[in-house]
Amino acid sequence: MQYQKVIWLEIHMRVKSKTKLFCWCKNSLALESHPNVNVCPVCMWHPGMLPAVNSEVIRLWALAGMMMNCEINKISRFDRKSYFYPDLPNSFQTTQLYQPIVWAWYVETYVEWKLQRFDIHHMHLENDAGKLSHAWGKTLCDYNRAGSPLMEIVTMPVFHSREEVMEFLKELQKIMRAAWVSDADMEKGQMRCDVNMSIRQEGTDVLNNRTEHKNVNSFSAIGRCIDAEFKRQKKIMESWGQVEQETRWWDDETGISSSQRSKEDAMDYRYVPEPDILPVVLEDDFLEELKKSVVELPVAKRQRYLEEYKLGEDDARILTADYELSCYYDELVKLTKDEKKSCSIITSVLLWLLNESDEINTLSDLQFSVADLSKVITLINSDELSSTNAKVVIEELFKNGGDVDTIVDSNNLRQKNDMWALEAIVDDVISSNPDQVQDYKSWNERIFGFLVGQCMKASAWQWNPKVFNELLKNKLD
Ligand SMILES: [Zn+2]
Repeated sequence: MQYQKVIWLEIHMRVKSKTKLFCWCKNSLALESHPNVNVCPVCMWHPGMLPAVNSEVIRLWALAGMMMNCEINKISRFDRKSYFYPDLPNSFQTTQLYQPIVWAWYVETYVEWKLQRFDIHHMHLENDAGKLSHAWGKTLCDYNRAGSPLMEIVTMPVFHSREEVMEFLKELQKIMRAAWVSDADMEKGQMRCDVNMSIRQEGTDVLNNRTEHKNVNSFSAIGRCIDAEFKRQKKIMESWGQVEQETRWWDDETGISSSQRSKEDAMDYRYVPEPDILPVVLEDDFLEELKKSVVELPVAKRQRYLEEYKLGEDDARILTADYELSCYYDELVKLTKDEKKSCSIITSVLLWLLNESDEINTLSDLQFSVADLSKVITLINSDELSSTNAKVVIEELFKNGGDVDTIVDSNNLRQKNDMWALEAIVDDVISSNPDQVQDYKSWNERIFGFLVGQCMKASAWQWNPKVFNELLKNKLD
């Protein structure tokens, strides 16, 4: 029997605001060297303290929603959710159940070269918990992260393969980075993913009992977790058993998951409306102003490269894999007006250099400007620089920076297009190779390449083979 996976995801995304959700404490995205330095009576929820919503977070949050053409609720409210663990100082988490800020939107992305749409149920905001460390039989609490803003994105059960899940998560990561809402770095815990999964017989649309794997924290671990859970559930179904609805823990090292606790439903969380925080009301002017910060979606860039620029699928994918890179490419195209050459210089020279280098690994570390690179492309297009020599120039810019023309001339890399001198070489090659010329004229087209080679050799490989080609053709045909 064939089984189909039905997966939905809950993604926690740390918002890149300066301060925490309800107080003025620093929202530190990296781990602080000391515990409990970014805390105050508000985020420690001392009696009598009144939290106030951070407007910067609301701005970033609404912007993330806009980036995905979602419905933004002009009025949203907070709720309390019972929480029993010591990584939050109060006995509840502040979250949104009934009126989250963002409803029903979708993310489009390419899965195996095909554009697919994945529906989102909602996105809400909540405060993050602190960090617990277990040592010497005791538990230590670090509340630096407690009260930091966290976006929770909940999808519909729309994924049926690990590839779909991977591509969706990568797209979401790109969107968050493009909008400067979150760095969405999984390794740093800025993007954490809970995987909910059930299986069913292929061709049916029932939703069976699901399991939830909490905080699977890398793309590859998510893939492995999905594969293993599919196998486990399939085995149970094939022996007429029933999959328990439960939370499981994924151990990526052993590749085995184990039951953690039975899955709570909303009842168990005992949600109550938050009495201390006023509803968030978004004015039309605010939303209009915010629209100006919406940038082109990574997937829209990819479509533009394919349809308008006619780039190959692989190139379009590589250029849009990183938002900063696609912006760099756009900037270069603006200057050169040459989409294809700009693409090939980036993908085959610049990315290779960035990959190979020990010191310079990001575009922001580069010692030369986009304008310098566009100058190199202009020199190629005006036949003053061969592709091979262009590589030498870019390598030099990459290592030491400097002025393009100076590098070209001081290394004797400029192709000479002085027609008189070129003609003299061509004449010389023709007169000193009479047999080959005769062969070419009577039957052997292939000998033409040899003659061009002789011209290049005579010019010490400095001059332009394209011009030699034309001159030889004119003289011999
Ligand atoms: Zn605080």
